[in-house]
Parts: sequence; C-alpha cells; structure tokens
Amino acid sequence: MAVMPAAVNRLCAIPELTVLVNVPLSDHTRFRIGGPAAVLCDAPDESALTQARRTVQELKLPNVVIGGGTNLIVSDFGFDGVVLRYKGSRLERKGMLLQVEAGAVLQDVVDESIRLGMKGLETMTGIPGYVGGAIYGNAGAYGRSINELVECVRATDGRHVKAFRNSECDFQYRESIFKTRKEWVILSLDLRFESGDPGDLANTAREIRTIRDLKYPPQMKCAGSIFKNVFFDDLPEHVQAEVPGTVVRDGKVPSAWFLEQAGAKGIRRGDIQVASYHANLVYNDGAGEAADLVAIIQELKQRVRDRFGFELEEEVQYVGFEHAPALV
Ligand SMILES: Cc1cc2nc3c(=O)[nH]c(=O)nc-3n(C[C@H](O)[C@H](O)[C@H](O)COP(=O)(O)OP(=O)(O)OC[C@H]3O[C@@H](n4cnc5c(N)ncnc54)[C@H](O)[C@@H]3O)c2cc1C
Repeated sequence: MAVMPAAVNRLCAIPELTVLVNVPLSDHTRFRIGGPAAVLCDAPDESALTQARRTVQELKLPNVVIGGGTNLIVSDFGFDGVVLRYKGSRLERKGMLLQVEAGAVLQDVVDESIRLGMKGLETMTGIPGYVGGAIYGNAGAYGRSINELVECVRATDGRHVKAFRNSECDFQYRESIFKTRKEWVILSLDLRFESGDPGDLANTAREIRTIRDLKYPPQMKCAGSIFKNVFFDDLPEHVQAEVPGTVVRDGKVPSAWFLEQAGAKGIRRGDIQVASYHANLVYNDGAGEAADLVAIIQELKQRVRDRFGFELEEEVQYVGFEHAPALV
C-alpha cells in the first residue's frame, strides 16, 4: 500500500480538500472500468489543489490527475496512490474572452459561449469531460481544436503557478506540453472568441450533436476514438499508395480506415466490443474488464502492423498499469 495513514492524515488537514480512500475508479470513468484508487482527492479551488499537489510530492506518493474520466483506461488493479481531481468550474466573461477553470465541464462552456454569441467552440459540442482534460489532449472535432482559441493556460506544479502562453503549450494534433510535463496541473485558461449569432451557433451545435449521438449513444461506455488518426505524410510510401484520396481529411487518414481493412469491426473479447459500424470505437458492452480492453487494443495494433507495417498510437490515456502484470 503506497499511501500510509499518516499521509492520508496530511491530505485530510488541507482545508476544503475532499479526501476519500479506497474509491472504485470504475465509478469515475466513462468506460465504467477500473479498480480502486488508494486515495481520491477532490479540490474545489486552487489553494486546495496546490497544497494537495505539494503534499503528494513532498511525501513522494504515486499520483495522477484525472478530469471527467472520459479518455481513460484504468487498470483492473486500480491505482495504488493519490488521484487528484480539480473541481473548480467558474467561468467569467471579459469582452470576447472567457476565463474558465479547468474543472468546468466542456459542454457547459460550449453552451455558455453559444448563448453569449461567442463563436469558436460550437463544433466541439458533445465532447465529454472537463476543460482541463480537453487542454491536456488538445481535444477537437470537425476540423477544429481547442488550441485555436487558447490565449493562455495557468497550471501549478505544487510550488509555482505558471501562465503558459499558447506558443508555450506545444499544441499539436491531440498533443500539448502537459502530456510530457505531467508535473503541471492545469488550473484555468483564457479562451478568445470571435463574435457570432447565437441562433446560427446553436444550429451548428444541434446538427453536430445529432450526428454524434448516433455514433456515440449517450449511455455508451467508451472513450470516443481509441487511436489517433494518422498524418498521410507520415505513412510509409507503400501505405500511402493504398490509401484512397477520398478518405484523407485535413491531411490525416482516419485510423478507422486502417482498422477496417484489417478486419477489426465487430471483434469481441469478454464484454469488450469493437463497434460493428466504426472500427476505432471500442466499448464496454456489460461488465467489461481492463484486461480484455487492453488485449483488444493490442490485437488491433497487431492487425494494423501485420497488414500495413506501421504502429497506431493511442489517443486514450492509461492509469494504473505501471505495476500491473504484462498489460500495456
Ligand atoms: C463518447 C466520447 C466521444 C469523444 N469524442 C471526442 C472528440 O470528438 N474529440 C476529442 O478530442 N476527444 C473526444 N473524446 C475523448 C475525451 O472526451 C476528451 O479527450 C476529453 O477532453 C477528456 O477530458 P476528461 O476531463 O474526461 O479527461 P480524463 O479522461 O479524465 O483525463 C485525460 C487525460 O487528461 C489529463 N488531465 C485531466 N485533467 C487535467 C488537469 N486539470 N491538468 C493536467 N492534466 C489533466 C489526465 O491526467 C489524463 O491523462 C470523446 C470521449 C467520449 C467518451
């Protein structure tokens, strides 16, 4: 057990921090999969989060930050350490700027921006999770990504708060500096919008929502796409020659195309299912387990390796596999 009672007492002494022990992470992931966290800390404000961050560092406790749990695969063994979650969710308008705390639900920010006639986030309607998670993975949809609106991101390493300008966030397709510099916990961000007509923005969002709800029914236990799409220019020449021009979008080939050629649609293992209509969508069809989910992901990667000779890269993030036997 990595978190001793004395450490739990230190965390419990932090004002406003909610500290829970032995918490099933399956209750906090969209896949509904994952064993227990030794400790789960919910911080409602920056002060509590910063102190919790500093404490886990001082005590050298294994720790991980989560948001809405919509892009996570958590091990069946759980996480033997401290899971930190930032729940600050205030939102403030300053002209065409929205200042948003990282624990805000992205959809709430989308809805508010539409209501205020602020254009830029409407195509991200239906992406679940918190704003902090969206920045971490530079979430996006329909050709737009959140980085296009970001002016700055504030984050803490437990000792300092640093404001990262957009150019310092190293945003790329589904990437940001926060994926490599995990000591920084995102606290808040400034998003810059253009002005738009609320009715037009709402119509765009509604149309997108209808399409998305068919692909990802609201109750589906999944993480959206398992794999990132692949830049056409990064593919080996012999693979480029096989890809029909019609499937290339914004310079990328959907991973689903490769997976479909490799016969991935409809594969099942235990209660884990690859969608029959979308080869890059894997869901928990009952009481699925992380072991089966990871095994299916490995099988999908192997099929694409065998058929095309290159490696797909996961968009989903793993938690708790560091010490689990031979999973990832
Ligand atoms: C049905 C469905 C559809 C989806 N569609 C899309 C889509 O169209 N486009 C898209 O981009 N994604 C999509 N996703 C994936 C997911 O919703 C996004 O990646 C989302 O932004 C993750 O946010 P989260 O709060 O749930 O993060 P989590 O899943 O909780 O965490 C993801 C990662 O972010 C890190 N993180 C979270 N909060 C912080 C923080 N405050 N500071 C530092 N690191 C943090 C975590 O450590 C973890 O590594 C979809 C998921 C589902 C279930």
